[in-house]
Amino acid sequence: AVPVSIMVGTGRGAELGILFRRGDALQRLASAKVIGFDKTGTLTLGKPALTAIETAGIDRDQALRLAAAVEARSEHPLAAAIVAAATADGIDLPNATAVKATVGRGIAAEVEGHALLIGNAAALTEAGIATEPALIAAADAWTATGATPVHLSIDGRHRASFALSDPIRPDAVEAVRELHDLGLRTAMITGDVRRTAEAVGGKLGIDHVIAGVLPDGKLKAVHDLGKGTVFVGDGINDAPALAAADTGIAIGTGTDIAIESAEVVLTGGDPKGVPRALRLSRAVMGNIR
Ligand code: ADP
Ligand code: MG
Repeated sequence: AVPVSIMVGTGRGAELGILFRRGDALQRLASAKVIGFDKTGTLTLGKPALTAIETAGIDRDQALRLAAAVEARSEHPLAAAIVAAATADGIDLPNATAVKATVGRGIAAEVEGHALLIGNAAALTEAGIATEPALIAAADAWTATGATPVHLSIDGRHRASFALSDPIRPDAVEAVRELHDLGLRTAMITGDVRRTAEAVGGKLGIDHVIAGVLPDGKLKAVHDLGKGTVFVGDGINDAPALAAADTGIAIGTGTDIAIESAEVVLTGGDPKGVPRALRLSRAVMGNIR
């Protein structure tokens, strides 16, 4: 039988925008020790904007036009930002063929007879493409501010880099502080590059930053953080970690796969729902004991 206080707690959670899809999650959260967060879309709004372009041997509009032509075929939030910037500039996008996306890396395609690749530096390196030092220097400066760099190669030459800035969620700083006040440790587990992740983690006061990981790496990081690890995420790439964590918490504005993989859903997307859920869980368990 489900104790009355769990039913009451689940009901109270629903009022607070915290959906407990399983009653035992409400019990288990009380013994949480570490809260691991995805970055993009979880601690940030997941709505990046294009804030800078650097090019090498190509003009800015042509770089943006080709990059957007490829990104129009991607569902990644970074891709949407590049397409939105091209559209805002009134650029007509040519057609992309032979499209091939790689999780946590980027996307390749052919446009107007050119072989294009757009993604992080690892995507270029793994394709055997040498990165352009001047473009990498620009990208490094962007990462220090918390922006994410995306690189474009054309026919095997690194030709442009784009800076994408994704605002931190307004209540994320407060959520992290409340978790620390509750005696928990915090971590960020992200596919983004280390310097960007550390800049964002620094602004938030996160204890521990794990960067540059693919979805399997997120799962492994959750395992490594040990027993009592809660993972909070929103993306397709978060699903394995959400399922593997002691408790998976999905951001309600996230993907269906993330929501289905989680035991708790924050309907509004406010990260303060995490400390709220913990306090509720502790109150309920205090009643049962
Ligand atoms: P996160 O953990 O931050 O949600 P992802 O695993 O979705 O990150 O992506 C990791 C990295 O892969 C991104 O920061 C980006 O550098 C690169 N990437 C993936 N898909 C794309 C794309 N379509 N365009 C550009 N970069 C991409
Ligand atoms: Mg995400």
